[in-house]
Amino acid sequence: MNISYKSTRSDKKVTASQAILKGISDEGGLFVPSTFPQIELESIIHKSYKEICYSVLSKYLPEFQEDYLKDIINKAYNKFSVPQVAPVVSFGNHHLLELFHGPTLAFKDVALSILPYLMQISAKLQNVDDEIVILTATSGDTGKAALEGFTDVENTKIIVFYPSQGVSSIQKKQMTSQVGDNVYVLGIEGNFDDAQNGVKSIFNDKDFQEKLKSEKIILSSANSINIGRLLPQVVYYFSSYMELVQKGAIALHDSVNFTVPTGNFGDILAGYYAKRMGLPIHKLLCASNSNNVLYDFFKTGIYNKNREFIKTTSPSMDILISSNFERMLYHASDNDAELINDLMKELTNKGSYTVPEKMKSIISELFYGSYCDEESTAKVIGQVYEKHGYVLDPHTAVAYKVYEDYVKESSDERANIILSTASPFKFPEAVYEAIFEKKNVEVYELIDTLAQKTNLTIPEAIRKLKDAEVLHKKVISSHKMKEALGEILL
Ligand SMILES: *Cc1c(COP(=O)(O)O)cnc(C)c1O
Repeated sequence: MNISYKSTRSDKKVTASQAILKGISDEGGLFVPSTFPQIELESIIHKSYKEICYSVLSKYLPEFQEDYLKDIINKAYNKFSVPQVAPVVSFGNHHLLELFHGPTLAFKDVALSILPYLMQISAKLQNVDDEIVILTATSGDTGKAALEGFTDVENTKIIVFYPSQGVSSIQKKQMTSQVGDNVYVLGIEGNFDDAQNGVKSIFNDKDFQEKLKSEKIILSSANSINIGRLLPQVVYYFSSYMELVQKGAIALHDSVNFTVPTGNFGDILAGYYAKRMGLPIHKLLCASNSNNVLYDFFKTGIYNKNREFIKTTSPSMDILISSNFERMLYHASDNDAELINDLMKELTNKGSYTVPEKMKSIISELFYGSYCDEESTAKVIGQVYEKHGYVLDPHTAVAYKVYEDYVKESSDERANIILSTASPFKFPEAVYEAIFEKKNVEVYELIDTLAQKTNLTIPEAIRKLKDAEVLHKKVISSHKMKEALGEILL
């Protein structure tokens, strides 16, 4: 089967390597696969994570040679601290898919450990020898995972923009202490949406791109707008399903639900792709924090970002414009690029759009949306620790609560897998206060106490932060991102 890619805003076709290298299409659209390859469940029953990864990626990346692909999968996932890469932990009827055993302790590592390699191979396939500059907007976790993935990668620079007041103290220290000759970390005055809009508008600035091109520089993205971010995330939907089969929690071909703490809609969209590839998923439960734009959309069919941006204890989900939702709209509209153009124009101009009734009902069939406010997030962390001795991070707690809401509302008792997206040690203040009480001590002392009281081991990546030097102190206005980039590159 011949898979190609096209943008959500035009019908022009590109190859996988072109899509990965560009990150975003010339019209500002996102690349999507033209078809969904199928995975036969029987064929992956006894496979390891890496083998399942090869089964999935090889179908999406036909230009990539088998031995290269196997080699980079090995390199990427050898960086994880557990051999299963993404194990499922079960207690009661809860199954938690732990996606935080990579180098930076959040699920972003799953894709960003391999994306630099995918990009290097794509550049070779496209005969590109220009310098590749990776622009990244982050709500906290993508930034560090991208820095870690791209640091000291030849012929590449990585530039991260993060909301200087919108990430956790640990997330901030992780980024600002990053070493490497090709890394740049800039705080912005503004929130994640401002950072993401700034990056998108740089991509859409043709004159600027021309200028860079004449200096033999091309821009790409490490955000989940890059299809190379999404594809590796499809893998753990399959691997976790197979783990439940192995454990006897389900029989092969039983349908399951997944609950996904959602911000930019990348992680949950990978679940939708897994479903299209043949994984028996009944519903995808889309869990938002107090920034509940998607919850409102599932109820009304109206996407409306005109509202207060709320800073929460799950900062990686503090997002009002979920970029990957554009891909979902495209698939649900039966590939209607013209309609997507119109809707995205409305979003830019008015801050809202309404989808046709038919699209709304297609999307409502697939997803259940709910949200969890700050008070409930803390309560869930406390209750789960008390009842099961398991320490949830705030993002995962949001998902946990939404799953409980769903069961109450639907009485659907089929197996459900909650995506556990970050280590609790990335958010020690919020977690400690939720389980014990507020404690005003220095953050590393708090981490020590949290580890002692909960009997957890402090991950190495957190321990070494304490004495790490802050190397990146610059904070700029969100309107000055292009200028700052020019200063670095030109
Ligand atoms: C990024 C992130 C999310 C949200 O994932 P999206 O793909 O943006 O929807 C949830 N939890 C954590 C810990 C994250 O870092």
